[in-house]
Amino acid sequence: MKIKILLLLGGIYLSSPIMAQGLQIQDKPLPCIEKTFSVVVHIPKDTLGDIYIREDQVQDAIDTMNVYFAPICARFELCEFNVIENFQYSIPANTNEWEQMKVKYQQNNRINVFIVLSIPWVPFDCGYTDLGGLEFPQRDALMLKLICLTDLPKSLSHEMGHYFGLLDTYGTENTPPELVDGSNCETAGDLICDTPADPFVPGDTLSPKYLHADIPCRFVFEGEDPAGQYYTPDVGNMMTLYPDTCRCGFTQQQFHKMVDIYRTSMGSW
Ligand SMILES: [Zn+2]
Repeated sequence: MKIKILLLLGGIYLSSPIMAQGLQIQDKPLPCIEKTFSVVVHIPKDTLGDIYIREDQVQDAIDTMNVYFAPICARFELCEFNVIENFQYSIPANTNEWEQMKVKYQQNNRINVFIVLSIPWVPFDCGYTDLGGLEFPQRDALMLKLICLTDLPKSLSHEMGHYFGLLDTYGTENTPPELVDGSNCETAGDLICDTPADPFVPGDTLSPKYLHADIPCRFVFEGEDPAGQYYTPDVGNMMTLYPDTCRCGFTQQQFHKMVDIYRTSMGSW
């Protein structure tokens, strides 16, 4: 009897480290890249020749970004506030003009951020950023609308997520819709498995279709996925288009993807 109890206890003792290990895999510490990126911000003057943003407003957005990227020890430092005389670029007319801006003003060994008044071909998102641009810093850049930088303080962090290779949580036109049960998460939606399926359609009005009219950040969407399950997206994810005030960070897998992109791009930095 005693032996049996001991064996039983031994079994419990032996099994607990295995369980703990299983949990540790999910919550394994994030890699630390220990990298400070130099950021150059380009601001075209407006049609009146005025500069529509101050350096301290840009610094605030960068300070916010440093909080959200701290878990992987990535930091951003504003190294230059570059004013562009050509007012045409304050509202680039099309992607050709965006390409021209980068060819003319892009600086090497820095993350290039252009702050513009409007991006006519991007009605819904706050910016137009080269996806995974971190791998090609001499060619790729971020573009952010002024109103987002000033009024939605986490929008620069969202765009930086794109620059580090992350998709919006609802995916793109090129990715199939993600199912709520996550069974196709590697090939659908945002291609990340620890971000729940997000049914948001860019251009839709958020409230009351998706969000409760009176309770901030409360998801109420009643639609079902193709398998008949209700959505429970994380409205607090940095890569959603839910209100900026709801956004509170990236997931583990999003961080891992960003670190992977950084590691493949290290020759460029
Ligand atoms: Zn986005």
